[in-house]
Amino acid sequence: MTDDRALRHRSRMARRKARVDAAIAAADQDRGLLLVLTGPGKGKSSSAFGMVARALGHGLAVQVVQFIKGRSDTGEEAFFRRQPGVAWQVCGEGFTWETQDRARDIAAAEAGWAHAARALADPAVDVVVLDEITYLFNYGYLDLDRALEAIAARPRMQHVIVTGRAAPRALVEAADTVSDIGDLKHAFRAGVRAQPGIDW
Ligand code: ATP
Ligand code: MG
Repeated sequence: MTDDRALRHRSRMARRKARVDAAIAAADQDRGLLLVLTGPGKGKSSSAFGMVARALGHGLAVQVVQFIKGRSDTGEEAFFRRQPGVAWQVCGEGFTWETQDRARDIAAAEAGWAHAARALADPAVDVVVLDEITYLFNYGYLDLDRALEAIAARPRMQHVIVTGRAAPRALVEAADTVSDIGDLKHAFRAGVRAQPGIDW
């Protein structure tokens, strides 16, 4: 009985290994990727910054542009500004319901986009993070087609990571990898304020 089960397990695992090995062997291209991290759950920006840490560990050059300045004392900004290999720009003025000033938000969006466009045209930059940029498309502060053109024309090996809720459909279609992060629970709704090291 037990032997039978062990045998069945072994042959099931052998079949799975063959499938996994075949899939790995079939993935034989190397090129820069467009990743989109979207959805209502927590984990979009922190996933992007996790990849920044990975990239720096490999000696890659990274440009981060934060399009909405939530706060000026985040752990990620303090940490990554101390690292060689990463350039960090914060261009947003805050969430749009805080600034309540459309003209100023658009000017900040354009300033952020100028940094992004420069990085997207620079083959010395290996990874570009466009944090919270989706809001600017959704509010009409930045033209999505213009951004998609610059992303499509980037150096072949450059990776681009985009974060923000409600990613526009055309951005999702253009992307290679898209994660839609769900919101099953968030401590904030139970009355816990944002915690340093976890939320900022
Ligand atoms: P993180 O930076 O933690 O990965 P995020 O990028 O997915 O979060 P944002 O929409 O950029 O999410 O919001 C950032 C801040 O808002 C973080 O402090 C995060 O914990 C909090 N937050 C994210 N999602 C939710 C949610 N569903 N409910 C309440 N707060 C949230
Ligand atoms: Mg975020």
